[in-house]
Amino acid sequence: MSGIAPTLPPQVRVFVRDWLSSNNILLKGREGHVLIDSGYARHAPLTLALLATPQGIGAAALARLVNTHCHSDHMGGNAAIKARYGCPIALPDGEAPLIDAWDENTLLLAYADQRADRFAYDEVIRAGETHVWGDLEWQALAAPGHDMGALVFFNPEHRILVSGDALWANGYGFVMPREVDARAIPATRATLEMLAALELRVVIPGHGEPFADVGAALERAFARTAAFEADSLRVARHALKVVLTFALLDQRRLPLSDMPAYVERIGIYRDFNARFFRLSPSELANRLVAELEKVHAARREDGWLVPA
Ligand SMILES: [Zn+2]
Repeated sequence: MSGIAPTLPPQVRVFVRDWLSSNNILLKGREGHVLIDSGYARHAPLTLALLATPQGIGAAALARLVNTHCHSDHMGGNAAIKARYGCPIALPDGEAPLIDAWDENTLLLAYADQRADRFAYDEVIRAGETHVWGDLEWQALAAPGHDMGALVFFNPEHRILVSGDALWANGYGFVMPREVDARAIPATRATLEMLAALELRVVIPGHGEPFADVGAALERAFARTAAFEADSLRVARHALKVVLTFALLDQRRLPLSDMPAYVERIGIYRDFNARFFRLSPSELANRLVAELEKVHAARREDGWLVPA
């Protein structure tokens, strides 16, 4: 499915990370270097180390840090990068009130058992603006769905998109069921339609390698959206599986005996169970563990749930 290896302008460097940390996209320019997305807080030392390599910026300054959206895997390293470089942080204007309030529920932090170091931002970016980063023009485009305040950044000259979690080679970041946020799935479809009209040559996603086979990726994303539109339970199940996989990668292992208490303690499981599944905590825990085993995201080992 990898297809054609995408070519990127030399000043665009992508540090492909994993699922816990988003990719870090470095745009090197004559007037300063700009980094898009900072990864997860626990990986901040690695993010800083990558940035300081010759493939990064070496000993040079960082002019600006930009976020596609404010989930923990994209902004978790903001505080560490600002502490090291003293650079301004620019984030989507729709995310600013959430960061101001640092509400651990709406930011999906404590609510999803995720962590991020609190930071102060300096600038907001609005959809429709054009910014020059890495000597290239980037249009900020609203990309609501997975995150209602998310932006993506489009370079018309090379038809490159920095997509955050709005489009991956295989899918996109989990969305809220319509019973939780009625706007999320319709916005996801509208965002995909907007992206389809851009005739993109290369997508640099928030997770996974940059890819050129954009038509196939959009097809998969539309198919997933149609399945989500048809079945809220599927949307809810998918979200919990993603969030549990993330927690497992973060904490490296979870005690199986604590799983029923865990799904009672962490808000997103408790709320989704009450709303969609109405299972006992141990039934919900068993079902989630079994589903992660089935897709080879996790396995049981000596009383622990560990990443597979
Ligand atoms: Zn996200």
